[in-house]
Amino acid sequence: MLDDLSSAVALDIVVVGGGIAGLASAYALQQAGHNVRVLEKTDGRQRITRNDDRGKGTGGIRSPPNMTRILDRWGMGQRLGDVAYKCGVVTLYEGCTGKLVGKIPLEQFAPQFGADLMFVQHGDLYEILYDFAIQAGVKVLFNTNVTGVDSGDVLVLDNKQRVDADVIIGADGPRSIVRRDIGGDEPERSQTGYLTLTLTVPTATLDADDELRCIWRDDDSQYRFWFGDGYCMHLASFRSGSQVSGTLVYPIDDNASSYNEGWSESYPLSHFKPDWEKFEPRLRKLLQQQERVTATVHFDNPDLESTLCDRSHVVLVGEAAYPALPSGQYKAAYAIEDALTLGLLFARITDRAQVPQVLCAYEEIRGTRSASIVPREKEKRRLLSLPHGPEQEQRDTMWKHPHPSGEKWVDLDIVASSRLSSHDIEVYMYDAADAVQDWWSTWGGLLDRHSPTKTGEKGPQSGVVISVSCDSKEDGCSFIREE
Ligand SMILES: Cc1cc2nc3c(=O)[nH]c(=O)nc-3n(C[C@H](O)[C@H](O)[C@H](O)COP(=O)(O)OP(=O)(O)OC[C@H]3O[C@@H](n4cnc5c(N)ncnc54)[C@H](O)[C@@H]3O)c2cc1C
Repeated sequence: MLDDLSSAVALDIVVVGGGIAGLASAYALQQAGHNVRVLEKTDGRQRITRNDDRGKGTGGIRSPPNMTRILDRWGMGQRLGDVAYKCGVVTLYEGCTGKLVGKIPLEQFAPQFGADLMFVQHGDLYEILYDFAIQAGVKVLFNTNVTGVDSGDVLVLDNKQRVDADVIIGADGPRSIVRRDIGGDEPERSQTGYLTLTLTVPTATLDADDELRCIWRDDDSQYRFWFGDGYCMHLASFRSGSQVSGTLVYPIDDNASSYNEGWSESYPLSHFKPDWEKFEPRLRKLLQQQERVTATVHFDNPDLESTLCDRSHVVLVGEAAYPALPSGQYKAAYAIEDALTLGLLFARITDRAQVPQVLCAYEEIRGTRSASIVPREKEKRRLLSLPHGPEQEQRDTMWKHPHPSGEKWVDLDIVASSRLSSHDIEVYMYDAADAVQDWWSTWGGLLDRHSPTKTGEKGPQSGVVISVSCDSKEDGCSFIREE
């Protein structure tokens, strides 16, 4: 395995966006020996939930084994374990009747995965990454809104504030400004007609109701799916089992444009009109008890040809690179993999002039992985929310009898060979550090020998400039240079 080395040269790196991808990348790069600053447009308070009752409407993040392994590697395992909940069994029910369809004993495969599937609340994961990043020396600047990216001295801006950096990491989410710089004009996006509703319920509320208690306490499952007629609902435990987070994904016909793709807008449940007849009684009761739910609409975002800009000092990570579906289960995991990949590559820089080559390495390693994310998530959403009919019946039979021989989900090969779960297993088994190691053992020596400084070529121009508007006059603004 690659050691977590420290780079021979300390670069100035600016990360645009202080979400999960931004903080994780900042942490990994700072640990790799660089000086990292994060520019975040919000005041960050909405996500720091430690001092209140967490009624923020943010839901759950899945940390699949491929992500849990990285958090362990970074020494965050203990903190994660304190707030997250381990998934032992995945259980599937019929949405209309609540009848059991099947179960996968995920826990028994944990030794093969090398880690567990964990559920962690968005705010809790954010706090862990934020604390580690700050401790490592990352400077996070809140209320700092990046309004554009420019390549040198042709920048004309209202506020005239600019930031120099050796490398810019665009971690500014699905509506990324940095992405626009790389991909050209704002790309055409289209609504997919799907909506995700997210809710969080204290387990105590479920325990207080006989009908709801058995939804929760009747077996050892921590991850429950309801295959509805044209919808899918899943529930999981969070915050050491004291909370349950639910996600309902369903198609909406006409008014999708009145919702956005963020995570901050909540509505009374009565605002939505799913066909309640299609929900088994316990599920209906659980949903109808919620006063408010967070609504996030699904967009189709065009693919970028590259997550790198041709000036080769700007790169995208997380949802800025590949905006995934709000119902996607592994978005945070891909972002954490991006961060580890960057950290391991930038730890090996021996010369400032190697930046473009290292970013190309990142693009090569992550490009193949990211290309499949959105299509596979869409197929999964489709499979999970099939309307009643022959394909749905075939799916349910497959779930009951995953293997033609009639064998159950007792062997990882059987789980991996099933159409329903092959993608999940592939995600879980992927090791981002191994991918870097493979790349490095093939190309690392070449990169060093052919670094522009060693070959006498003129290295690329450093010093990309970002324009920012800074709402607060925090101390950390000292790196902003007035023109
Ligand atoms: C408040 C919040 C709550 C969420 N809750 C959930 C949830 O409950 N369940 C779930 O599955 N996913 C949730 N997500 C999405 C999830 O975090 C991401 O899908 C995944 O972790 C990848 O994150 P990201 O950092 O790439 O993108 P994001 O999480 O979208 O983070 C992007 C960051 O960039 C900042 N930013 C954007 N534009 C600029 C700019 N111009 N200048 C400076 N900063 C900028 C944003 O404020 C944000 O902090 C949430 C995201 C947010 C922001």
